Amino acid sequence: MEVLKTKNIGFCFGVKRAINMILKEVEENKSRVCTIGPIIHNPQMVNILKEKGITPIEDVRQVNNEVVVFRTHGIKKDEEEYIKEKGFKSIDTTCPFVKRVRKHAMYLKKNGYRVVIIGDKNHPEVKSVLSYLDNDGIVLQEPTIIEAKKVGVVSQTTLDKGTFVNIVRELAGNAQELRVYNTICESTGIRQKEATALAGKVDMMLVVGGKNSANTSRLYKVVHGVQPRTYQIETADDVKPEWFRDIHKVGITGGASTPDLIIDTVERRVKNI
Ligand code: SF4
Repeated sequence: MEVLKTKNIGFCFGVKRAINMILKEVEENKSRVCTIGPIIHNPQMVNILKEKGITPIEDVRQVNNEVVVFRTHGIKKDEEEYIKEKGFKSIDTTCPFVKRVRKHAMYLKKNGYRVVIIGDKNHPEVKSVLSYLDNDGIVLQEPTIIEAKKVGVVSQTTLDKGTFVNIVRELAGNAQELRVYNTICESTGIRQKEATALAGKVDMMLVVGGKNSANTSRLYKVVHGVQPRTYQIETADDVKPEWFRDIHKVGITGGASTPDLIIDTVERRVKNI
């Protein structure tokens, strides 16, 4: 059986940067570090970091003299204010691409646009961007008509392009003025493109990543659209031998928060079947 992998696999730029910043703090200053929510949506990596003294907490009020990390998806405005007010030491690992979404959204609001964020209202990145608009924005996941003359649009970084285009098209039909910032992260687009291209050449695809990772789930969705025999897995333990009957070529891809280590163990497991 032949096993093929996409070129862009494993941590993306933003996740690599965040992990390096935190590990540097722990190694150089021997600090106790906490993150508001998991630093990335990958349970295995979160556990590895816990062993190094990097603990996720649910509420900013639980900070107890640790160094506080603003995670890659960004934190909420009131959380940032609380941390500053208390004088806690902090490390801002918010991905620059996520900050770009926030910057454009704030610009649109300031200039009188009704701000639309295309994405998942429950995702921490969307919650963070919305909080910097003082919750004065609309989150859309499907085409909807908005009653406003000036509409300004940004997207969650991990959104798929198809959803973005469909929603923007609907908004264009009604608004007198529409200003659109395509803030989908390039890394997401490249991964989806490579993964769908590979999916068309193999008999089965494995998409590796946390079940709680939005970008992995979207990657699964687009790959599954091309290759119905696609499975989303978190680790090598999830791989089932019965999937491989009559399979000659397997493709492997992974979300932006999936460590190389996990991809390697999945690849080894598949080769051993
Ligand atoms: S997927 Fe893109 S936006 Fe998200 S952390 Fe990675 S580089 Fe940043």
